[in-house]
Amino acid sequence: MSFYKGLLIHPEELSNDWIKWAVDAKLDMIGLHPVGGEEACSSLDNLLQLLKSKEFLDNLNHLKKSGIQVEYCLHALSWLLPRKLFEQHPEWFRVNEEGQRSPDKNFCPSNPEAMAFLEQQSHKLGELLYTDNHRYHFWADDVASGRCCCPECLNYSPSDNQMRVLNVILKGIRHADPKAKLSYLAYYDTLEPPERVAPDDGIFLEFAPMDRDYHRPLADGLIEKNKKQYQMIAKLLDFFGKGDATALDYWMDNSLFSGWKKPPALFNLDVPVLCADAAMYAGFGFEYITSFACYLGPDYVETHNVMPPIKDFAECFDKIK
Ligand SMILES: [Zn+2]
Repeated sequence: MSFYKGLLIHPEELSNDWIKWAVDAKLDMIGLHPVGGEEACSSLDNLLQLLKSKEFLDNLNHLKKSGIQVEYCLHALSWLLPRKLFEQHPEWFRVNEEGQRSPDKNFCPSNPEAMAFLEQQSHKLGELLYTDNHRYHFWADDVASGRCCCPECLNYSPSDNQMRVLNVILKGIRHADPKAKLSYLAYYDTLEPPERVAPDDGIFLEFAPMDRDYHRPLADGLIEKNKKQYQMIAKLLDFFGKGDATALDYWMDNSLFSGWKKPPALFNLDVPVLCADAAMYAGFGFEYITSFACYLGPDYVETHNVMPPIKDFAECFDKIK
């Protein structure tokens, strides 16, 4: 079976140690994932600053020369459509569940001006985060539900609305990179495939079963949450196809296991669950099998005086291949 294996870390965690671990473990891909949530916009700005530093660029080149592809994986929406525009253009933003326009999450994809602005900004971000293998991950806000409740948007499911938005973002990125491809993040209220809106050529599936039991295999039919996620996989692959299909799971996500609060907790990799899930994803034909691996950087090593289990992660995949 052929697939790429990768890990997503916070950009500031990319230390010389991390590069060495990634090379030793023969990872195919490192995803740089700025912190999401309320800080998503400023943490993306921090990444853009880092990309101006020679030391950081040298590190990226080191990874690339070692055959490790670097991708950028981020909740980009609050950067693409800054919240401060709410004062000038409240109609660009979403109608919340109480019927009020609000800049709290995402925006209103039924507003043509907002969509035109989004396309321009996506062009800009595509230039700033150009990626050699043309795979882009510019996600919406990191919320379980952030839909617009205006009458027009309510004609579409959350997945259809996300699809409308992604087609425009991809169009924007393609002004910078004509070969660009863009991920559809399937999780929470976008877990179901769209029904009304077709993906433009170049949209690929990124399946992130966040709402799962992390210590039982995803295919475990006795766990209701896992069953719900697992049952969606074939449907999503049918809809989006297998080209570039990416599983983005949480086996190594020590930020999640630390409750997204520093200091990082001591991390134990659940090897049996990882191995079962990885074999399952490979069996489905995912091209990329990846996990978040945040909070395992230099401060983790310093706090716990132990190396993160990146080799154990990789070995599990070597057993499948
Ligand atoms: Zn709307």
